[in-house]
Amino acid sequence: MNNNNRKIKLDKVSIVDRKDHTSDLWSLFLEKPNNFTFKPGQYCTIGVDGIERAYSIVSAPHEDKIELFIELVPFPDGILTPKLYDLNVGDQVTIRPRAKGLFTFKEEFTNHLLIATVTGIVPYISYIRDYIYRSCLGNKFFILLGASYIDEFVYDSELIDLSTSYSDFIKFIPTISRPNEPENIKWSGEIGRVNQIVEKYVNLFDISSDDTLVSACGHPGMIENVKEILGDKGFSIEEERYWKED
Ligand SMILES: Cc1cc2nc3c(=O)[nH]c(=O)nc-3n(C[C@H](O)[C@H](O)[C@H](O)COP(=O)(O)OP(=O)(O)OC[C@H]3O[C@@H](n4cnc5c(N)ncnc54)[C@H](O)[C@@H]3O)c2cc1C
Repeated sequence: MNNNNRKIKLDKVSIVDRKDHTSDLWSLFLEKPNNFTFKPGQYCTIGVDGIERAYSIVSAPHEDKIELFIELVPFPDGILTPKLYDLNVGDQVTIRPRAKGLFTFKEEFTNHLLIATVTGIVPYISYIRDYIYRSCLGNKFFILLGASYIDEFVYDSELIDLSTSYSDFIKFIPTISRPNEPENIKWSGEIGRVNQIVEKYVNLFDISSDDTLVSACGHPGMIENVKEILGDKGFSIEEERYWKED
């Protein structure tokens, strides 16, 4: 990504807010450059000291800030996230002028089975905020979110509120893969990795491959497994891999 810096004019934007959720998960709110447009589910490319990475956008296009949800990959494995982690309100990052990506909301499918691990929830938050803002009707969202620990869900209160207010078209199922850890002692919801509960919920939600798009975002191992499970059943599947498995 760095090789193209000379050709593309990079805007600098300020961090206007920061919310820390755990020791390695936080949300950043960036000022939105003039004329910066995107579709729900697209990503922006931000950078510090010439190092750039892609981040899916949490916010919907009508919002006045660019909201990001980031997981720290500690140094020396992670390069940009340790730098981003050190930034605070008032600091600046570069941003490429155009948002990109094809992992966008496809209205033509009635049902959307949205599967994510931790930060992989980001594109779906944008889909749903936008869908509700535009008062759309006719689609259904079935969201399955996996994490090791309950404090990694982060956007779960928003999703619980939405699935309560719009219960006819939004369903939200969070699942914990390490139910026996002390941090998860109060958990009474679904357990198992998110890919392990997919089949159960396809049956419970009674959705079929005819009118359902399956979207999988986040951990590459989860994505591979979902494709094996549901690809065999004829589902259309879209994926957004945040990183490659070694
Ligand atoms: C389209 C797209 C959208 C993305 N959206 C987000 C997002 O919304 N939030 C977010 O936090 N990240 C997102 N990423 C990942 C992001 O671009 C960076 O790769 C990540 O933040 C790590 O950056 P880094 O420079 O610290 O480490 P890198 O140098 O990018 O990676 C270092 C090592 O860590 C691995 N790695 C990268 N991310 C993770 C992770 N989360 N968990 C475990 N290992 C990882 C890489 O495969 C590599 O081996 C997205 C990636 C893509 C391609």
